[in-house]
Amino acid sequence: MNEPPTSTPGHSLDPQSEQEWTEFRSQAHLMLDDMINDLAALRDGPVWRPLPDERRSAFRAAQVPSGAGSLEAWRRSFREDVLPYATGNRHPGFMGWVHGGGTPVGMAADMLAAGLNANLGGRDHAPVEVERMVIRWAATLMGLPEDASGLLVTGSSMANFIAVIVASRAAPGGLSLRTAGLQSRRLVGYAGKTVHGCVSRAFDMAGLGSEALRLVDVDQEFRMDVAALRRMIEADRAAGLEPFLVVGTAGSVDTGAIDPLDGIAGVAKGEGLWFHVDGAFGATAVLSETIRPRLVGLERADSVAFDFHKWAQAPYDAGCVLVRDPERHATAFAQSLSYLSREDRGLAAGAPWFCDLGPDLSRGFRALKVWATLSVYGTRRLGEMVDRCCAVARRLGQLVEAEPMLELMAPISLNIVCFRVCARECDDVENDILNGEIVKDLQESGIAAPSTTVINGRKVIRAAIVNHRTEYADVERLVDAVLACASSRSGGA
Ligand SMILES: *Cc1c(COP(=O)(O)O)cnc(C)c1O
Repeated sequence: MNEPPTSTPGHSLDPQSEQEWTEFRSQAHLMLDDMINDLAALRDGPVWRPLPDERRSAFRAAQVPSGAGSLEAWRRSFREDVLPYATGNRHPGFMGWVHGGGTPVGMAADMLAAGLNANLGGRDHAPVEVERMVIRWAATLMGLPEDASGLLVTGSSMANFIAVIVASRAAPGGLSLRTAGLQSRRLVGYAGKTVHGCVSRAFDMAGLGSEALRLVDVDQEFRMDVAALRRMIEADRAAGLEPFLVVGTAGSVDTGAIDPLDGIAGVAKGEGLWFHVDGAFGATAVLSETIRPRLVGLERADSVAFDFHKWAQAPYDAGCVLVRDPERHATAFAQSLSYLSREDRGLAAGAPWFCDLGPDLSRGFRALKVWATLSVYGTRRLGEMVDRCCAVARRLGQLVEAEPMLELMAPISLNIVCFRVCARECDDVENDILNGEIVKDLQESGIAAPSTTVINGRKVIRAAIVNHRTEYADVERLVDAVLACASSRSGGA
């Protein structure tokens, strides 16, 4: 038994006596049990429940507490006011947007990270080495060189932003953007029309302007048209613009389409442009033996953005950016500040620091939950899980095609299924409304939680199978519930 430390009562926020430590310990163990019990019984509850008005009002009216409260009372508030009304993405019936399901292992690891309270902005300590290891593993998995640079960030939005910054600094004369700004330069980049919205926002935030992201036509399977890309670059150069970047998407957010990465890499190389891949969820499919061949070209990327918190199931948040050339990554962000000076030994050794590679100085220990996830599950099992998600998506596709009232609205490239109820008595616009209402009905029913998107101008029901817990039975339940909602809405029930 470890004896808890004793200290004289003072400013410390730690428990102040052996008895207080014992009380804390028992509350903390109960909290852990609360979450484990909740995870073990996920399937028994609804996917999502709306937060009741009175609880929402209580949050909005609550004042900053000035006096001390008990941990036990706070734990009760969490259990009653938060736990039942969360996003629902842990539940097997959650299919909305692209959310990871999380794992018990990731949860436990995140608690350890909070206990350590390490700051991974820099300095010389084991947590920084763990992040370096995770980055080296990530680079190896994506087919980049072992010595590629990178860091863990909040998510792919930040990872894509960092990549756009690095790519613009790597353009001819790009380093002067750091001090002089864009001046009159007209740098432009390219991505398929189905690119995630965070990439155009990255252009906006980087000061390049969102219009500097030129959108390239896609084919019928929603993949970038490489010939159109080539034509656009040529026309832009002729018009005096300065192309610097091409973004390929590995797993588009609407349909899961994978751009022809190898063809895009060829164009980028030929034109002397930076090749970045947004593989937020889709790049995780490199873990699958069967899907990996479809990601060929990913290994030619100059930078890659992806998330451990989506298909790799690490708890939020855990995005990752990788940059093939460590020098280019470092020169895009490095600063010299005297209070952050680096030493040859002691705690201030170990340069380069992660704060040299992105906008954040203070950074948490995201790497711990990623390390735990990869160590405990292993890449083979995670790859099989990715395959199973795709099989569940294909099963949903079969069910949709077997129902006369349902129509598949996009090819199933990966793990996303876009379909739509077509009520015969309705026109297209009425069907758009109907499908939107059905999705809200489903979410409120607690049975399943898909989301919507627009495909070829039509509103569709979109089911993204990202959760390792989702099985055939869950998509069967989804289809039954869609049909039931449709029939009650069209007055059939
Ligand atoms: C989710 C997603 C993003 C944004 O990632 P976050 O982790 O949510 O910031 C970017 N691109 C694609 C294709 C995505 O699916």
